[in-house]
Amino acid sequence: MPGKPHVFTSNRVILPESDHPVPATILVDPLTGKIIDVKHGHTPHAAFSDPEAISAYTDADDHLIMPGLVDAHVHLNEPGRTDWEGFWTGTRAAASGGVTTLIDMPLNSIPPTTTVENLEEKRAAARGQCWTDVGFWGGVIPGNQEFPCVTESDLKGAMKELEGSSTVLCFHAELDTSSDESHTLSEVPNPTLYQTFLHSRPQSLETAAISLITRLHAQLPSLRLHIVHLSASDALPLIRASKRAGLPLTVETCFHYLTLDATSIPDGRPEFKCCPPIRDAVNQDALWDALKAGDIDFVVSDHSPCVAGLKKIEEGDLMGAWGGISTLGLGLNLLWTEGRKRGVEPRDLVKWCCEATAKHAGLEDVKGALKRGMDADIIIWDPEAEVKVTKESLNFKNKLTPYEGLTLQGRVLKTYLRGNLIYDASEGFAGKPAGQLL
Ligand SMILES: [Zn+2]
Repeated sequence: MPGKPHVFTSNRVILPESDHPVPATILVDPLTGKIIDVKHGHTPHAAFSDPEAISAYTDADDHLIMPGLVDAHVHLNEPGRTDWEGFWTGTRAAASGGVTTLIDMPLNSIPPTTTVENLEEKRAAARGQCWTDVGFWGGVIPGNQEFPCVTESDLKGAMKELEGSSTVLCFHAELDTSSDESHTLSEVPNPTLYQTFLHSRPQSLETAAISLITRLHAQLPSLRLHIVHLSASDALPLIRASKRAGLPLTVETCFHYLTLDATSIPDGRPEFKCCPPIRDAVNQDALWDALKAGDIDFVVSDHSPCVAGLKKIEEGDLMGAWGGISTLGLGLNLLWTEGRKRGVEPRDLVKWCCEATAKHAGLEDVKGALKRGMDADIIIWDPEAEVKVTKESLNFKNKLTPYEGLTLQGRVLKTYLRGNLIYDASEGFAGKPAGQLL
């Protein structure tokens, strides 16, 4: 027997079957946190002649009701590097930006998530601290406690092992094919210039790696393969060819590659450093085109913070700084601010940041869409509002981000996890951390 429903209604709801927001009403069972029904049409409060029949009523009026985002690529670094980020701060940052599920990456925490034992350690550290749901990726390494690069033979082994299983192999596609002998001391380039860093990670590193894995993939065509944080548009023809050949390949890019471009990055600002790097505007246009065409499947944050010292903020040292950009909580508004100039609709954002990411993480039966039987992970979002990114507005631990000072379009007004309010833009966080470990 379901409990008395919590009713969510709006004139603009993004439902899985429609291309545009429609008036709709969502009934949520407060006991299970599941959506029990979705009806077309906005429902005024007066329509419930017996107010006792419902447990709560939330009317978003003309604001959008949409599914919470599923961010499939986040580094929370706990345990071991909790001064970089942690479950508490990371999931609060996520909730404030409408993310209701995030999937933690296996590296940068100590230990990395490469064994079942280490996963249990992660889960123990996370328990009771999560404001959103959190899932965990596991990592493939050559059998020790560091996280070195895998070789072609490691990769082949892992690909063979996983072929035919439902597991997806995610691949950081940068392959260093250069030799280090090209520089003498006198010609070491200035490490505070963004261009110095950009030149050190050319597109060819990505295309070489993607060329290798797509070649191996062709020999193991039932393996689910995924390329994380694609930056190089030069690799798109390889990706298109693999997809056209019917290989189960998916590709993600990140908010920063779609919203920042190298020519407008100031020098001496390691907040902008990530690997692979943010490239020029021509590259960015090509990534947008590929995303719209479906060659790139979805968008994630790759939120990967560290402390100011390692980020070499004082020195402005791009070459020496830790590579990683802090984005949690900003992704939806970033993508919207840039995307609407390019004809993107809110529906596209749901496709790229909710539906496709949920599917990638194997959560498509519970997350990423507003329909019967799904978790009632719901956000109320005002696409017309503006927010200014200030240090005070950031909820992640180290307030170092390339987006500080920007004014973004869109504002998450409320975030609900399984029907329960967890974040309210005017009141702050609500309740206690009720996120589940998936
Ligand atoms: Zn990452």
